[in-house]
Amino acid sequence: MIIILFGPPGAGKGTQAQMLVERYKLKQLSTGDMLREAIKEGSDLGKEAKTIMDRGDLVSDQIILSMIREKLENAECEGFIFDGFPRNLEQARALDEILRKLKLELDLVIEIVVEDDMLISRIENRARESKDARSDDNAEVLKKRLNVYHQSTEMIKPYYLEKDKLVEIDGMGSIEQVRTNIEKHLLSKVKQ
Ligand code: ADP
Repeated sequence: MIIILFGPPGAGKGTQAQMLVERYKLKQLSTGDMLREAIKEGSDLGKEAKTIMDRGDLVSDQIILSMIREKLENAECEGFIFDGFPRNLEQARALDEILRKLKLELDLVIEIVVEDDMLISRIENRARESKDARSDDNAEVLKKRLNVYHQSTEMIKPYYLEKDKLVEIDGMGSIEQVRTNIEKHLLSKVKQ
């Protein structure tokens, strides 16, 4: 099974992805986590990415796509959850091409829908309270990340709607409620 978890920063993609990894034995491919890993290692790529991420902008498609290609080509399983990728139309088209070459097929794009006000308060909370706080979790950069989401990332919705792959999930409820909703869609997909 190949799933894309799609939604704005703070929508809960990471939390839900973890649940799906455990339950369905899928491999999570989070481009944000890969970049943060590269930053920790202090690689050239990490240094380049950090400046861009701290501004709230998108890292270049070239970097992102080569990371994704490498992970997919070396993976031993055939089940994946993409989290934070694709983030624009170019990445969505490139992913199709990569999957086609590997003879894999995308099953579902799950959009977790959350209103901006709630995203802002969730991330402000994460910045205040969590040990997982990130250097891009502050009010100003978050505003930029939300803008980038609305201007570039949301543009991939019609692309997947047309392919009949997109489902919208209400992401305003509890972690459990969101998870139940996601599972409902996955079950109907598996039954088909
Ligand atoms: P969030 O969605 O919560 O903002 P992520 O961890 O997915 O967080 O991404 C953090 C940052 O990493 C983004 O703001 C962006 O700079 C960079 N990034 C992650 N994934 C991509 C991608 N697919 N394309 C371009 N930049 C990306």
